[in-house]
Amino acid sequence: MKIIILGPPGSGKGTRAHIISEIFDLPVITTGDMLRGAIREKTEYGLEAKTYMDLGDLVPDDIVNGIVKERMSRPDVVKGFILDGYPRSVNQADALDEILKAKGIKLTHVLSVVLSDEEIIERLSKRRSCPVCNEIYHLVSKPPKKKGVCDKCGAKLILREDDKEDVIRHRLQVYRETTQPLLERYEKQGLIVETDGEVPIEGLRDHLKELLG
Ligand SMILES: [Zn+2]
Repeated sequence: MKIIILGPPGSGKGTRAHIISEIFDLPVITTGDMLRGAIREKTEYGLEAKTYMDLGDLVPDDIVNGIVKERMSRPDVVKGFILDGYPRSVNQADALDEILKAKGIKLTHVLSVVLSDEEIIERLSKRRSCPVCNEIYHLVSKPPKKKGVCDKCGAKLILREDDKEDVIRHRLQVYRETTQPLLERYEKQGLIVETDGEVPIEGLRDHLKELLG
């Protein structure tokens, strides 16, 4: 099983990747982890990526693509993988096609998490974060024991800048614009499998097993 997971920020992509990984015993490949790994191992692309990240800049596509290529040459991806957070653009999807073609690997599923903008805003704007220990709370589904205070360390909880409604709306707009062409591309290839973003976490394992099994 060779899967890409596509979904807007706050839709539960990472949770799904983690559950699928457990059910089918497959590695989850995320760009963030790959970048950190390449930097730790001081690979050519890793060293290059570090110069951008140290300055707080976005790592350019060609370096990200190079790191994916390095990762895809490891033996653990032969039986399958779950790509989470990559590709993010048509340029990256083209690069991935090349990488997979060179290895004779074919994608089997593109899992698309379907969730309305309103629901995402509802989820993210009710999120509260601890600036000290990074614990995440949700005013409805995971409220702190004492209002506005972190259970773990007692710090005052904050609404992160990028969880504010106008910032979320902007992130969603950017996401929809860059991802729509990817959905169309994979739809043409018959790879899209949709997963309802509102499936409750308790039912997620069975839902994904049925969808992909
Ligand atoms: Zn805390």
